[in-house]
Amino acid sequence: MPSHGFALTSGPVMRSEFSKSTKLARFEHANGHCETCHQKIVGVAEYDHAVPCAAGGTNEFDNCRVQCRRCHRVKTSKVDVPQIAKSKRIVERRAGLRPKRGFKGWRKFNGEVVWK
Ligand SMILES: [Zn+2]
Repeated sequence: MPSHGFALTSGPVMRSEFSKSTKLARFEHANGHCETCHQKIVGVAEYDHAVPCAAGGTNEFDNCRVQCRRCHRVKTSKVDVPQIAKSKRIVERRAGLRPKRGFKGWRKFNGEVVWK
């Protein structure tokens, strides 16, 4: 977990974004392809945090991933949300609050998890 990066932003930022130059550099780096499924991106590219902001991810080039819309949606629902929930659970456990275990999402037929 990187401990740097917070000094780069001014003021409290709940969900920060990549700068235009970072997005452009990453898009060129990926050669216009999705960095998850490696298909050429048709339409508008989306940019994802490899390490979510809530888990200490930065808005640097290294933490940016170019994705097609489909992969971005899958990644956000399958990776980011459980990861954020997990780090939140760890904090809660350390704080002595023993949260109830339970699956709070719905699972579609194709295995995709929908979180409420
Ligand atoms: Zn993709």
